[in-house]
Amino acid sequence: MGTEILSDMQKTTLDPSNWDDFRTQSHLMLDDMLSYIENIRLRPVWQPIPNNVRQSIQESIPLKPSELSEVHDQFMKKVLPYAVGNVHPAFMGWVHGGGTPVGMLAEMLSAGLNANLGGRDQMPIEIEKQVVRWMIELFEFPENSSGIFVAGTSMANFMSVLIARTNLLGREVRETGLLNSGRTLIAYTSEAAHGCIKQAIDIAGIGTDSIRFIPVNNEYQMDVEILRKTIAEDKKNGLEPFFIAATAGTVDVGAIDDLETIASIAKKENIWFHVDGAYGALGLLAEDVAPKIKGIHQADSIAFDFHKWGQVPYDAGFILVRNRNVHLETFSSPATYLSRENAGMSAGSPWPCDFGPDLSRSFRALKTWFTFKTYGKEKIGEMISDTCKLAQYLKTSVVDNPNLELMSPVELNIVCFRFKAENSDEINKSIVIKLQESGICAPSTTTLNGSLAIRVAFVNHRTNFNDVDALIEATVRFGKEYESSI
Ligand SMILES: *Cc1c(COP(=O)(O)O)cnc(C)c1O
Repeated sequence: MGTEILSDMQKTTLDPSNWDDFRTQSHLMLDDMLSYIENIRLRPVWQPIPNNVRQSIQESIPLKPSELSEVHDQFMKKVLPYAVGNVHPAFMGWVHGGGTPVGMLAEMLSAGLNANLGGRDQMPIEIEKQVVRWMIELFEFPENSSGIFVAGTSMANFMSVLIARTNLLGREVRETGLLNSGRTLIAYTSEAAHGCIKQAIDIAGIGTDSIRFIPVNNEYQMDVEILRKTIAEDKKNGLEPFFIAATAGTVDVGAIDDLETIASIAKKENIWFHVDGAYGALGLLAEDVAPKIKGIHQADSIAFDFHKWGQVPYDAGFILVRNRNVHLETFSSPATYLSRENAGMSAGSPWPCDFGPDLSRSFRALKTWFTFKTYGKEKIGEMISDTCKLAQYLKTSVVDNPNLELMSPVELNIVCFRFKAENSDEINKSIVIKLQESGICAPSTTTLNGSLAIRVAFVNHRTNFNDVDALIEATVRFGKEYESSI
């Protein structure tokens, strides 16, 4: 007997054997998800995962097939009800985007196309380049600036550190390493910066001892006078300031550093000026928010997320870099198996993989392109502006309520407040857990000047003024209940 040749009927493929049945099931799945979003208000914002549900999915690798409808049923019963709830209008914790049905559909198209955006000559990369051009326009960067989609701002901030390092030490540093450069690089950010800035310096091999965490003023902005002095001192000691990360929209309170002043300091001292605008940078889309972040246009690099205020489904982070050359110098390393041509599928160099550490990459640009095309800049801007109006409304409601107290300035869409009480930290921690477990609304907490605050971030485009009223009502009710129980 010779080698057996399989007929096409016998050969294994993962496509459906009956496309008609599959199509019917697909439409059911799509409808379920549309209904989920349409009727999201009928659900609690979040509910604890029951133990039996948590355990019910634990099994060995499935050996045999299951019906798609069965697996989908498990998703509907076991996964969908126990997500974190950021689609829900009453989700007010952390800084999570709400997503949109348009973004969901675009994700589906992108998965169907299964495009790998690492490189080669393909229209999906042209779409990504178009979004890059939009961002160059929005941030008023020079036409030949570069940009690329990444998972999130954590990755974008990390890349900006590497780019700033290459900018100072040249491409050679990639071969010699930092140690052999014999130079001590110093980075600056504020005490209110996101933890991923510290992590970026760490994983870039610079070492967190080389970060100066500049104290903040009463507005939670980096104190620029201390920044100036610290840079001068470091220079005097033979150290090399190379990177300043300012924040446009801090996670705690939504503060915006004085970007214009920091830009001028960076320019004068010849230091890379990076802005962590994770959620705040897209405030540029809103007419009334844009003036607050003036100065961002002068950055050398900006990191931000479309998946926060931009409402693009996770994940869709982005980095924009003024100096395309140094961006390329930091990451490009043409390998022979990635050889480029002027024609055919290997044309179109440089490729996205030359602008970052990822080779295989998803088509994050598509859901972002769909979002801008279907909603338009104006409407997205109005939505962003409205989340800030909700914050002002909550601020007023807090100030007017004798049981509540405002804990920080309200610059953008974040409000920090607390229920006034003797063991304030304990009570407010319990209030937040109760709010989350009741399914009424889901704020988070933060610590400001050593005191625990209820932190409300309005990012979800579905949240309305009634949701703010419900938050206030339940906070006061749970606070009083707690007090009378002790
Ligand atoms: C959310 C956030 C980050 C982290 O962004 P990811 O997309 O979660 O990686 C960094 N900085 C600030 C100010 C943020 O709000």
